[in-house]
Amino acid sequence: MKYCSNCSKPVVSEIPSGDNRLRYVCRHCDSIHYQNPRVIAGVLPIFEGKVLLCRRAIQPRLDYWTLPAGFLENGESTLDGALRECYEESHATVVDAELYALFDIPQIHQVYVFYRATMPAPDYAATPESSEVGLFAENDIPWEHLAFPVVEITLRRFFQDRQAGTFTVRQETIEKKWLTQPKDT
Ligand SMILES: [Zn+2]
Repeated sequence: MKYCSNCSKPVVSEIPSGDNRLRYVCRHCDSIHYQNPRVIAGVLPIFEGKVLLCRRAIQPRLDYWTLPAGFLENGESTLDGALRECYEESHATVVDAELYALFDIPQIHQVYVFYRATMPAPDYAATPESSEVGLFAENDIPWEHLAFPVVEITLRRFFQDRQAGTFTVRQETIEKKWLTQPKDT
C-alpha cells in the first residue's frame, strides 16, 4: 500500500501506539489501514467417485487444474461463497455440502475453506474462468498440473480419507515447504 484510501496522501509503515505490528498509517488523516488474511471458499465436487476439476482460464496459474474456489465476498457465508464459486467456475450444482477442510496459509495471508459435496448429475461446462472442466478418477488426477499446493493437499487428504472409509474435517497449516516444493509429500 502506497497511498491512503481515505485521503490519497502517501502512507507510512509503522507500529501505531498501543499496537505491536507494522501497519500502513496515514499521518494526514490519521487512518490506520489494517490488513488481514483473505478467505477462499471452495468445493470438492464428487460425482460417482470422481472429482470435478477446472482448468484455469485466468492468471495466476493459467492452464493448471484446480478445485472450484475463490475469494469470499462481503455479506456471504463460506458455504454460500463456495457454492457460488463452484457454479461460476464449472456451472456445476452440488448438494449435501459438508465442511471438509480448513487450511491456513499464513505466509500468503490466506485461509482456505473447502466443502465436500455431491453432484446429483454430471452437469458442468467450461466458463469464462475455466477453459475446461472435467471429472477425474483418483488415478487420472493431473498431479503434476495442479494449480496450487492447497489443491493437491485437499485431494490427497480426500483420497486418504476415502480409502480409510471415514471423513473428518481436516485442519492444517500449510508451510513453506509446500509452497516451494509442491511435490514433496
Ligand atoms: Zn489519509
